[in-house]
Amino acid sequence: MVNPGRQTIASHINLPDYHIHTALCRHAEGDVADYLSEAATKGLSEICFTDHAPNPDGYDHAHRMGMEDFPGYREAVAGLQNDETPGVLFGIEADYYQGCEPFLKSWLPAQGFDFVLGSVHFINGWGFDNPEERYVWESADISATWRKYFESLMMLIDTCLFDAVAHMDIPKKFGHRPPDRELREMVAPVLDRMAEMGMGMELNTSGLRKPVAEIYPCPMIVSLACERDIPICFGSDAHSPMDVGADFEAALKLARGAGYKDYFRIRQRKMERILLPAG
Ligand code: ZN
Ligand code: FE
Ligand code: FE
Ligand code: ZN
Repeated sequence: MVNPGRQTIASHINLPDYHIHTALCRHAEGDVADYLSEAATKGLSEICFTDHAPNPDGYDHAHRMGMEDFPGYREAVAGLQNDETPGVLFGIEADYYQGCEPFLKSWLPAQGFDFVLGSVHFINGWGFDNPEERYVWESADISATWRKYFESLMMLIDTCLFDAVAHMDIPKKFGHRPPDRELREMVAPVLDRMAEMGMGMELNTSGLRKPVAEIYPCPMIVSLACERDIPICFGSDAHSPMDVGADFEAALKLARGAGYKDYFRIRQRKMERILLPAG
């Protein structure tokens, strides 16, 4: 079932969706086949599953598959990989947090992923984008919180474990953000480092479905990334099949408006840059 409106518009935009979850992560609905059939209905040429990575240390256990679920995830995705359209890639969204490195360093390269998205979802143990912990924002120092977030992102980048940064300005989710001038000063060194390391950046449309009602990241950050020639990809961050490819026309417009002419596709963690479709 396709719901009318924004969902059908996406069918005209043939961009790969590189950020898709499944019910395995305990806070999404639908299995891999449900997401694939929705992508086919919308005419997407390629999708990449990037469910939340399991962790042996119990990190954020409530929002991810267990280690014991991972083989099933791998097999389910592999079961959809054939020569048909849309193509199916095998990826993961892995969190950077203090202490993640020993596990991720050995585990990530051994799984044969096509794509590894890197995310930060916690600051000092606070799940700042979790609706249940939203109230903490009311007493938080907004600028200091963002600074800490970008410090974590910098560490994420320096691990060299991830191909692209997911939802780069996700602390804005509930509407808390520093003034543009301050944000620019905070984000510039992070983008510089991404460019140095050849890392990609995701344009994530799920922000449009959140209180902030804006794609991650904001136009200013996309422009600063374009100045540095940081490669971009597109993700819906779908936690429900109907959201696959959601609002990709808006994401394409954002990319073009910032000056982008191309985006990246990735396979076996090797990027290839492709011209953006007309739009
Ligand atoms: Zn999630
Ligand atoms: Fe995330
Ligand atoms: Fe996600
Ligand atoms: Zn996400």
